[in-house]
Amino acid sequence: MSAQLQENIAKAEGYLARFKDNTLGHFINGEWTLGSGETFDNTTPFDQSYLGKVAAASEDDVNAACEAAAAAAASWAATPGAERRKILHRLGDELEKRAEEIAMVEAMDCGQALRFMRQAAVRGAANFRFFADQAPEARNGLSLHQAEHTNFTVRSPIGPVAVITPWNTPFMLSTWKIAPALASGCTVVHKPAELSPLTASILAECADAAGLPKGVWNMVNGFGTVAGKALTQHPAIKAVALVGDSATGKLIQAQTAQTLKRLHLELGGKNPVIVFDDADFERALDATVFMIYSLNGQRCTSSSRLLIQSGIKDKFLAALKERVANIKVGHPLDPETEVGPLVHTGHYEKVTSYFEIAKQDGATIAVGGKSLRDEMGPGNFVTPTLFVDAKNTMRIAQEEIFGPVLTAIEFDTEEEAIQLANETVYGLAGYIWTSNTGRAMRMAHSVEAGMLWVNSENNRNLPSPFGGVKMSGIGRDGGDWSFDFYMETKNVCIAHDTHKVPVLGR
Ligand code: NAD
Repeated sequence: MSAQLQENIAKAEGYLARFKDNTLGHFINGEWTLGSGETFDNTTPFDQSYLGKVAAASEDDVNAACEAAAAAAASWAATPGAERRKILHRLGDELEKRAEEIAMVEAMDCGQALRFMRQAAVRGAANFRFFADQAPEARNGLSLHQAEHTNFTVRSPIGPVAVITPWNTPFMLSTWKIAPALASGCTVVHKPAELSPLTASILAECADAAGLPKGVWNMVNGFGTVAGKALTQHPAIKAVALVGDSATGKLIQAQTAQTLKRLHLELGGKNPVIVFDDADFERALDATVFMIYSLNGQRCTSSSRLLIQSGIKDKFLAALKERVANIKVGHPLDPETEVGPLVHTGHYEKVTSYFEIAKQDGATIAVGGKSLRDEMGPGNFVTPTLFVDAKNTMRIAQEEIFGPVLTAIEFDTEEEAIQLANETVYGLAGYIWTSNTGRAMRMAHSVEAGMLWVNSENNRNLPSPFGGVKMSGIGRDGGDWSFDFYMETKNVCIAHDTHKVPVLGR
């Protein structure tokens, strides 16, 4: 074990000690509470050891959080944008102060390698700062002229909103939602994933330290079927922003129907990376490896299907095999680690089940396809895996595996690439590698996805829209798209007193 890893483990133990010693509660109306008293155990995917108890919110606990958010809504909405901006920048400062703690706690709670989690707090802070800076102008609308009337639009916060987040990079994803909600003037009830609850509590602590008024930010821990469901059904909640599985998105659509809420659903994907013969070979190879094996492949935008053109297939797959076999699997706190353990045993079982499914369907496991539990102990470690000789109709090409597992499929023509790319229920992201600009443009228009990157891995630009089509979701995050979701637009139409008012019954 390297000296650096030893030092990181000691630091992480220090940060995690308080979670072991105290049940992690809910943050409701500015107070920490254990609520109804139900709890569940949280463990680390590194070795299944105990990280602490977490309160599981009952319907009553969720109701209390929603009522707090409702009570705080009017005064937060009336707080001047410039003041909200100031508070959200202070929140960014708090996150930056605790960046190391957030990175280490997140790494041990969800198994993500520290090399990626180091950026979690920094990017989270950047999210708050970006949306904070737009808070003062968020209400502004358009001025729309007619001959005898002038219309103008204004926006106002929609009201208390629910933010429901998953376990993959939970910290960063939460900030994408909560930052624009607060900047818009909405109050929030956040329910983090039950499998990775720890950093959401640090986020709530930072919000408190930044001086957010009580009730503006509430956080409830617990299960989707109880706490999540109650939150989506509460009448005070006006909109629900979910990041999660497509199946959960469908449930939430049904659960919110009776109270007719606005929904933003960011769901699963089976994203193609399409590499043409004329691509820049080394850059395409680097990006292909990065976009499926970083973050343990537990990434909604992962390029989990490689569509490779026949002319470079053999050369590309040979180089790919070498790289995949060389990826370093290890302790999440080891700075050398590239792939850590999968988030929990249920997910590990799902991912490893695809090794058998691939064989049954007639694909070849070119690299990996094994559990590493014999070699690395009880943690949820698997080998980075590459399937070749695959067809797009196979389950390994159609289902979201959500692990460090890539399925490679050969194609001949541009038309075939488009057809294969689109033959999926999902439509989140796509990656196109070619040196032919015209082809890049044609592909960008034809591939069904909310986001396409040409000759790039996933590069996030906060003013740009983020989201998917088909079963990958409804709605967009980013820039003004976020404000449109968290705000209502009102049109005011003013007559110039020159038009003829229709007359009845005179
Ligand atoms: P999940 O859908 O199981 O859980 C997400 C959240 O929803 C959790 O907090 C969970 O408790 C809650 N939930 C579950 N059932 C609920 C219900 N009936 N009512 C209300 N809330 C409920 O997802 P996961 O397994 O935690 O995360 C992985 C999934 O998230 C993958 O499918 C991944 O692609 C997707 N994801 C999408 C994006 C995106 O931007 N499109 C980003 C990250 C992750």
